[in-house]
Parts: sequence; C-alpha cells; structure tokens
Amino acid sequence: GATIGIVGGGQLGRMLAGAAARLGLKTAVLDPDPACPAAQLANRIIAAAYDDASALEALCGACEVVTYEFENVPVEAMRAVGAQRPVYPPVEALEVAQDRVTEKAFLNGIGIATAAWRAVDEPAELAHALLDLSGDCILKTRRLGYDGKGQAALKAGAPIEGVFESLGAVPAILEKRVAFEREVSVIAARALDGTVEAYDLAENEHRVGILRRSTVPARAGADIAAQAGEIAGRILARLNYVGVIGVEFFLTREGALLVNEIAPRVHNSGHWTEAACAVSQFEQHIRAVAGWPLGRTTRHSDCVMENLIGEEVLKAFAILSEPDAVLTLYGKGEARQGRKMGHVTRLTGPAPR
Ligand code: ATP
Ligand code: MG
Ligand code: MG
Repeated sequence: GATIGIVGGGQLGRMLAGAAARLGLKTAVLDPDPACPAAQLANRIIAAAYDDASALEALCGACEVVTYEFENVPVEAMRAVGAQRPVYPPVEALEVAQDRVTEKAFLNGIGIATAAWRAVDEPAELAHALLDLSGDCILKTRRLGYDGKGQAALKAGAPIEGVFESLGAVPAILEKRVAFEREVSVIAARALDGTVEAYDLAENEHRVGILRRSTVPARAGADIAAQAGEIAGRILARLNYVGVIGVEFFLTREGALLVNEIAPRVHNSGHWTEAACAVSQFEQHIRAVAGWPLGRTTRHSDCVMENLIGEEVLKAFAILSEPDAVLTLYGKGEARQGRKMGHVTRLTGPAPR
C-alpha cells in the first residue's frame, strides 16, 4: 500500500496513523521526539526538527503524499515538501490559519463574519485599538497560540500597562469579546474531486482556554447547522482544500454565527466521530489525502466527548467499566497539568433518523 507522510506526531498524528493502518496504508511521521505519541502506530518515525532539510528529504522519499497534524508547521518547510510531493491541506490553508490576522482578513474577505478585530503590532497601537472596539476585549498573539495560550483578557477601562509585553511583545490581534450564547464547531472534509461532506455540529465547552467537552447534537436549529455547513464549504472551496478542517464558531444571543478560528487538520471537537459515526474524522482525512472517496458523515448515536486533561487520566480505569463509553488514551508518559492525555466519548442514545 501507499505511504502517507504526517508532519507532527502528537495525539492527532497518532490517531491519523491508526486510521491509515486500518485502511491498509502506511505512515511515516516527522517529529522531533522519537517517542512522540504517533511513534507507536506509525510505520516509520523520522526524528528531527520540522525545518530540517535532510529530514524533509527523507520524508518525501518515504511517502507519496504529505499531510500535517498541527497548524504551526513552518510554511517554508511545507513549500519545500510541496515541490516534491502533494501537500494536503494545501500550504495556503496552513498559511492562512497560522496567523490570526491573516485568518480573519481571509474570512472577512469572503464574506464570513468574525468578532471585530484590530491588528496590534506594537504597544502604542493597543490603546487606540481598544478605543476603536470599546468594551471587553481579548489580546492574542497572532501566531503560535493554542489551548488558550498567548491570550490576555482586557476588561473595559482596566489598565493596559505591560499587557502587550506579557504576551512576549510579539505582533498581536485585539478581538472584541463576543458575548456568545454557546460555542459550536463543524468538522468538514473536501476530497480531491471537490466533494464536500460535513459532520453534525458539536457544542463545545472550554475551561481556561482548553476544550473540556463536546456534545452532539449541539443545541442549534437546522438553519444554524445549514449556515455553518455553508460557511465551511465556502472556506474549503476558496482554499482549494483537500482533507479535514475544523471550523470553530460563536453563536451569539441574537442568533448570529461568527467564526472564531479555523484549524486546517482534524480537530479535538471532532473526536466524537470515532465513536458515533461509521467513518471517523481521522479516516475521512486519510481518505481525502489519499485521493479516495469520502465516507458518509451520518451519526448513529448522540454522544458527549470529554477530554482527559492532566491527572484526569486517572479516571480512565473507572471508564473501562462504563457501558457505551469509548476510551482513547494517547500513550503519553507524564500527566502534566493542562496536557491532553486522552478522551472518552459516551454514547447517550440512538440518533433520531
Ligand atoms: P485552540 O486550542 O482551539 O486552537 P486557541 O488557543 O487558538 O485554541 P481560541 O480558540 O482563539 O484559542 O480561544 C480559546 C477560547 O477562548 C475560545 O474557544 C472561547 O471560549 C474563548 N474566546 C476566544 N476568543 C474569544 C472572543 N473573541 N470572544 C469570546 N470568547 C473568546
Ligand atoms: Mg487555535
Ligand atoms: Mg480555538
């Protein structure tokens, strides 16, 4: 069978490797850590920095197509890979999603609403941006943030002395805080031939910036679900996308959908698909990048996915005795605080037909 190159060997790379193996495909994973979570399941692990030229050469030599499992892969490295092998999702999607300013400008440019925002490149611009947006805001680094890292909440009128510096004095974006009713996300996929499939909306709860729980179905009407699917489809088409994408939304009290961010990869809020759908987001992504037809996204069950973060992984033992609980552990050694160690999806009943 063919080999798929995966840049990044965290839990997402691990679950992609598992899905590929089940379809008779091989995987070669590039990750600086030879003992990364994906190492157990991949056929080959190339342990080197993501921008190591000879490692990228080795990756291309080992596979027919390259994908990635996180959005902070260096764009230049993926461009170099792109000269030798197809890279899916396309490098342009990576570039757009890596920078919160580029991302929001792209979204607004194709008619998709987001929170109001201003680029803040230096501390002097912060006061002006705050006046412009007014009210509660959030300052975020443009790049490299995840799980709510690199963010500072700014209450209306509170002192802003040192806030820009506290994020590392790097280019930032100021976003108006959205008084959302709830957060929802859609996991969608686009095949090489342009076919698009989307899973049902998940409703997401976060704690200190980290996803805690995704509940499916989300409490949102059919009109909202259709709108979310249309937005995801527009993003996928504009990026000439191949693979799975995660689109995070705020649903406002007025019923408006605002995109929070996009993730050009499989997404934590789509982990429930492995328990409640015949074809998981991981298999869907592998199918897409391998040039295969997409699977149906029909859900057979309602469900709740809960992340096991840090010491919560100790709950895994009790979960083993629960009926209708699908447990996934990532094989990470140390249960450090805030570290995603695994997740459980509890099937809560048959999905209405
Ligand atoms: P991820 O791990 O999903 O990539 P991230 O670090 O990129 O997270 P965001 O998704 O931007 O961070 O923010 C994390 C959470 O913080 C959001 O899901 C939401 O709960 C809250 N949040 C972020 N931006 C806003 C906003 N403008 N208004 C209200 N809440 C927000
Ligand atoms: Mg993010
Ligand atoms: Mg997010």
